[in-house]
Amino acid sequence: RELPGDPRTDLIPREVLHSCYTKVSPSVEVDNPQLVAWSDSVAELLELDPKEFERPDFAEKLSGSSPLAGMMPYAQCYGGHQFGMWAGQLGDGRAITLGEVLNSKSQRWELQLKGAGKTPYSRFADGLAVLRSSIREFLCSEAMNSLGIPTTRALSLVTTGNYVTRDMFYDGNPKDEPGAIVCRVSQSFLRFGSYQIHASRGGDDLGLVRTLADYAIRYHFPHLENLSKSDSLSFSVGEGDESVVDLTSNKYAAWVVEVAERTASLVAKWQGVGFTHGVLNTDNMSVLGLTIDYGPFGFLDAFDPRYTPNTTDLPGRRYCFANQPDIGLWNISQFATTIAAAHLINDKETNYAMERYATKFMDEYQAIMTKKIGLPKYNKQLINELLKNMSIDKVDYTNFFRLLSNIKADPTIPEDELLIPLKAVLLDMGKERKDAWTSWLKSYVQELSTSGISDEERKKSMDSVNPRYILRNYLCQSAIDIAEQGDFEEVRRLLKVMSRPYEDQPGMEKYARLPPAWAYRPGVGMLS
Ligand code: AMP
Ligand code: MG
Ligand code: MG
Repeated sequence: RELPGDPRTDLIPREVLHSCYTKVSPSVEVDNPQLVAWSDSVAELLELDPKEFERPDFAEKLSGSSPLAGMMPYAQCYGGHQFGMWAGQLGDGRAITLGEVLNSKSQRWELQLKGAGKTPYSRFADGLAVLRSSIREFLCSEAMNSLGIPTTRALSLVTTGNYVTRDMFYDGNPKDEPGAIVCRVSQSFLRFGSYQIHASRGGDDLGLVRTLADYAIRYHFPHLENLSKSDSLSFSVGEGDESVVDLTSNKYAAWVVEVAERTASLVAKWQGVGFTHGVLNTDNMSVLGLTIDYGPFGFLDAFDPRYTPNTTDLPGRRYCFANQPDIGLWNISQFATTIAAAHLINDKETNYAMERYATKFMDEYQAIMTKKIGLPKYNKQLINELLKNMSIDKVDYTNFFRLLSNIKADPTIPEDELLIPLKAVLLDMGKERKDAWTSWLKSYVQELSTSGISDEERKKSMDSVNPRYILRNYLCQSAIDIAEQGDFEEVRRLLKVMSRPYEDQPGMEKYARLPPAWAYRPGVGMLS
């Protein structure tokens, strides 16, 4: 309901009231757009002919400096809790949606340029993105997808030929960095904060919460429209008739529960591969259960539950690796409360959604960890003991599980040979720690030998969930350092290697190495 201004000039930072978005066109300066990398698999989703990437004007289009036919660009209004505190209006401060592509399978893909210039939501910032963070977002979106983890995607990476000034928190001195633009692609970029902003304003704006909920359900959860009693979505949450939650009678309740479950499943998958998002504010939580907004994320190298890649999250470590499951629940409770504030669900349904989050998370997390160690059923003691040992000895999370599939289910193997398949990850240990590991492996081999699964079958199954290659911070950083010199070969190579993370790729062994000493900072990621 905001009066449309002139989308080329109406960039004054402001509170945008009673509206879900503002029409705004890309305004980034682009003196020399260069398409330096793109994702063939995203092009396929969009049914984009790969030859398009060779067109001389394509980089201009993917940088926003020349229009795409039929585009209707806009920036979204949203709010959010940042580090647990309500922050009011945030919104797309540097992301501009160009429009949606409807492919032949009737899938809707939204195209969004990140770093395309200011919007009314830019507040005090410049609306731009630097090459360093654009490479990280481009590579990690695609790496996560290849790992099988729900995520927004990235079609392209374009350098602008212009510089962007950033304050580096190493030394406080501003620095000029090359600018870049990523074209992000997702079925939707709706966030928890897209709903929170309207609920927080109250009054008539509560109607916008309903409108936007109807929109999400119609386009992204159509199976929840017209649920009938035969769908049997009734759940008992206590004693007596009063305590039955019937999701077929309220599509909004069914929706919030599905958002809760998708979020739980997403976080379980993050824990499985050691992904730490770093900024799990409610404006960075996708209503579709996708990983969204790649900022200072990091994958675990040495296992450390307190690991945070975000230097602004110290000393509290709210968003550290081990806190992610609880933070997911906190965020879901904010989301459910928001939908309740608009009178779309009641207290019982709100509580039920949170309960479903907790149950779904535990079920999926246990299933993932069980599969990671190749057992047929969950063994709490064995997994807890393993994680404790891994944290004491700072064992590499990725390489440990990958090597573990080489253990043979043979209880007659002599004790002093048990550790041999793991010697590349169990480094520099004294006798006491060696004994602890030998004892764990003895119990593990015992479990394996009674599991009835052959070594070969188990290895195959474990290798399908334990990646050989992961987008480690140091790999990203090396590619960035070279890219900043104008060479994008390493970015493209990483994209390729990370597109088949579970397969051994001959010649690519160096991408599976432990991080070098220069990249190691215990418990904290590199600055990003
Ligand atoms: P984030 O921490 O990345 O989720 O960003 C929080 C908010 O800051 C969002 O509203 C972003 O759009 C906005 N923001 C982040 N960086 C910039 C920037 N360079 N220019 C304008 N807005 C930004
Ligand atoms: Mg964000
Ligand atoms: Mg961000």
